[in-house]
Amino acid sequence: MKVFKFGGASVKNADAVKNVANVLKQFQNEELLIVVSAMGKTTNALENLAKSYFNKDKQRNKIYKEIKSFHDEVIAGLLKNKDSHAYDDIENLFIELECMLETKPESTFDCVYDQIVSYGEIFSSRIVSTFLNEAGIRNRWMDAQNFIVTNSNFREAKVDWKTTTDMISKKLKPIIKKQMVVTQGFVGRSENMKTTTLGREGSDYSAAIFAYGLDAKDVTIWKDVDGVMNADPKKFKDAIKLDALTYSHAIELAYYGATVIHPKTIQPLQSKNIPLYVKSFLHPKAAGTIVGKASKEKNIPTFIVKSNQVLLSISSRDFSFIVEDHLSKIFEAFASHKINMNLMQNSAISFSVCVDDSGEKLLQLIAELSVNFDLKSNTNLELLTVTYYDDKAITKLTKGKTILLEQRTRATVQFVLK
Ligand code: ASP
Ligand code: MG
Repeated sequence: MKVFKFGGASVKNADAVKNVANVLKQFQNEELLIVVSAMGKTTNALENLAKSYFNKDKQRNKIYKEIKSFHDEVIAGLLKNKDSHAYDDIENLFIELECMLETKPESTFDCVYDQIVSYGEIFSSRIVSTFLNEAGIRNRWMDAQNFIVTNSNFREAKVDWKTTTDMISKKLKPIIKKQMVVTQGFVGRSENMKTTTLGREGSDYSAAIFAYGLDAKDVTIWKDVDGVMNADPKKFKDAIKLDALTYSHAIELAYYGATVIHPKTIQPLQSKNIPLYVKSFLHPKAAGTIVGKASKEKNIPTFIVKSNQVLLSISSRDFSFIVEDHLSKIFEAFASHKINMNLMQNSAISFSVCVDDSGEKLLQLIAELSVNFDLKSNTNLELLTVTYYDDKAITKLTKGKTILLEQRTRATVQFVLK
């Protein structure tokens, strides 16, 4: 049994969806679960819709219409049989969302967000499933919310692994053994039967959760790049594809900010030793990248740049040392504001930390810490991480820039640059 994940770019328009069918033709004899994301940039549009609905803003009808007409265009390019039940089902989903927009928002923003934004994956999976059936690739559409059970931490819901694994292995697996199943990434359902989401870009993670529950043979993430690259090809023109990565290197790359695989994806796969392939949906026969336990890495330098970084220096007011007691207060504040530390370093009387510039959220943290500490901040910085570094590459990359902070281990070097 295999799990395939098709992201937003792979279903961004009618031609892209037709290409998905092409990719799948090679795998007609496999037991397959297909996990799809929302089409193109739909999730961003639905985020705006959720905001304007929650703020009772008049824009909401306009935003809704844009989302609807975008999908109508995709549907027009794909579905021939407008009299079918499947076609009506898709229409009804839109009506459902439209009706919801007429009601009063009755819960917190995060809850409302999940109820609305999750429609992106519902629309997309319905359209893809219906098209595949029309194209002769027989499949069943299944609601991921029936299987992925989470807590009620909306927008970043935590998976209840025991129940989820049970549901997937007992209920979903027998269905996939009989027929290909198409489902959604990104979404789950809380114990109080509310829709939840797993965090932006969470569809990779969904694929891994399903693979874990199914004891899948492998997972493939189909992308518009040839595999995992050693740098972002948009920023580094010499970027090359990595043929193989270990789970731990893949986790590190995701942690340092490489966006190719969602950070939470690796852990469930690693714990059951399920290999992950990252392949191009444009060159489906090419090998792509394999992430797995015994992967033979070639120790090729990897470059990750995170922009829009802020470096905070937090020091004690009374020249007392920054030791365990202070640090635990600082860490507590970061945790309670849900701000991740991308890099940290401490000296006698100050603690430096590099974080994403999250705007308002970060300002609130700074305000709280300023009650007990002196804070300095430096904005608009870059965090450069190089694994398997060599000195020549580093000299080139840091040339003409000011290094505000540097940290080295044997395999990895990080710079905060201005
Ligand atoms: N559609 C969601 C997002 O754009 C989830 C995903 O694509 O992985 O964040
Ligand atoms: Mg996406």
